[in-house]
Amino acid sequence: MNSFSECDVLVVGGGPAGSTVASLLAQQQRRVVVLEKERFPRFHIGESLLPLNLPLFERLGVAKEIERIGVYKPGAELVSDAHEAAGTFRFSDNPYLSVGHSYQVRRAEFDKLLLDNSRRLGAEVREEVRVTDVVLKNGERPRITAVDKKGGKTEWLPRFLVDATGRDTLLSGHLGLKRIDKQNNTAAVFGHFRNVPRRPGDKAGMITVYLFEHGWFWMIPLPDEVMSVGVVGTRAFFKTKGGDIDGLFAEAVAATPSLAAQMAKAEPLGPLTACADYSYDSRSYVGENHILVGDAAAFIDPLFSSGVMMAMSGATFAATAVDGLLEGRPRERIMRDYERKIRLSLTSLSWLIYRINAPILRDLLVSSFDLFNTRHELITVLAGDFYDQRRLLSPLRRLQLAYGCLLFLSKFGLRLRGGGIIWSRA
Ligand SMILES: Cc1cc2nc3c(=O)[nH]c(=O)nc-3n(C[C@H](O)[C@H](O)[C@H](O)COP(=O)(O)OP(=O)(O)OC[C@H]3O[C@@H](n4cnc5c(N)ncnc54)[C@H](O)[C@@H]3O)c2cc1C
Repeated sequence: MNSFSECDVLVVGGGPAGSTVASLLAQQQRRVVVLEKERFPRFHIGESLLPLNLPLFERLGVAKEIERIGVYKPGAELVSDAHEAAGTFRFSDNPYLSVGHSYQVRRAEFDKLLLDNSRRLGAEVREEVRVTDVVLKNGERPRITAVDKKGGKTEWLPRFLVDATGRDTLLSGHLGLKRIDKQNNTAAVFGHFRNVPRRPGDKAGMITVYLFEHGWFWMIPLPDEVMSVGVVGTRAFFKTKGGDIDGLFAEAVAATPSLAAQMAKAEPLGPLTACADYSYDSRSYVGENHILVGDAAAFIDPLFSSGVMMAMSGATFAATAVDGLLEGRPRERIMRDYERKIRLSLTSLSWLIYRINAPILRDLLVSSFDLFNTRHELITVLAGDFYDQRRLLSPLRRLQLAYGCLLFLSKFGLRLRGGGIIWSRA
């Protein structure tokens, strides 16, 4: 060992979850150290942000900077060739939302901005330092081994450990707590392209989701006329092509005529990337002196562009929990509150995500007939409100009610199409 170090909080991972928790704890005068295995800026997927991210940017003091690097996102559009229809969801159409827009960002720039900001707020950030081992024992400080790019080892003994390692899931893997979500058995292939026209008029900055038989595509307009395009499909669909991700992407594009038209002159800016073993969570998120935050705790399909929002809002809950535990406040209550908030957001989104390939939900998403005011409710979810689902008529409950009614009607051959309910043999 070359050295031995202590701090209040050691954060492993400098993505949005890690930099947010580090910033907030540094603002509380905690001595915080962030270890990040990469040197920023580095590529990362997850480019479409949600309106309810914006109050967090204000709180961190980065709102103006994000506005500068982002493409203005006024909403989302869902296109279904099977329905020959599209549903447009403008955030500003929901008067109850406090913020009516968000941004599409290059994550390389966005993540660097947040990490640099945590430095500015007092956290010590060490890049190109990878955590290779963690030992957790009751009644003792966590013991962490980290290795820098020259092979120099440091052993850390922080009072508290935050796992923000994203899909690497350092602790849930190490402790055997990780559970793969078999109901959301999907995978993704994505890349950046030029020469893909944006949607016309005020839809130019929207994310467009194209539904096709085996899944869905995203199209996210980024700065400098770059378009991020990705396909999310069932594992069965992905298996049809073995490991040929280019063939699979091309087949999915061909199966989605409206997207194929947009992509007719597309030029890839690099090779496509694939990502499997998709959704997961952890049996527990908090221990005696460690906490899991962001993708290190759980990941859910990106249909609602929820990842960064969940990582950053989860990080604010984690910062409150860690601060309380370091102050010696009652452990049980803090742990229960944190677990409950994270699980609440996951349950509300997974109900919708599990059904995205179901014809009834698709009818609801692209129909112009607004059953039980579901349009408002969908905008609320698309804006990032995942935490208020206990009210009797919460957004999710209304959607479930509408879905239940449509499911019942479908037993008699009735389907929601276009502007109303029709009789359909299909
Ligand atoms: C296909 C796909 C599409 C997505 N689309 C969207 C979207 O449109 N909008 C959205 O909001 N979200 C999206 N997401 C989700 C989003 O990418 C994540 O939810 C988000 O990045 C989580 O942030 P995080 O800080 O928890 O993890 P990350 O951003 O992954 O950060 C983790 C950091 O930890 C570092 N690290 C890992 N292991 C170690 C180690 N041992 N030592 C030191 N450092 C380590 C990594 O280098 C990384 O920088 C998408 C995800 C996928 C897979």
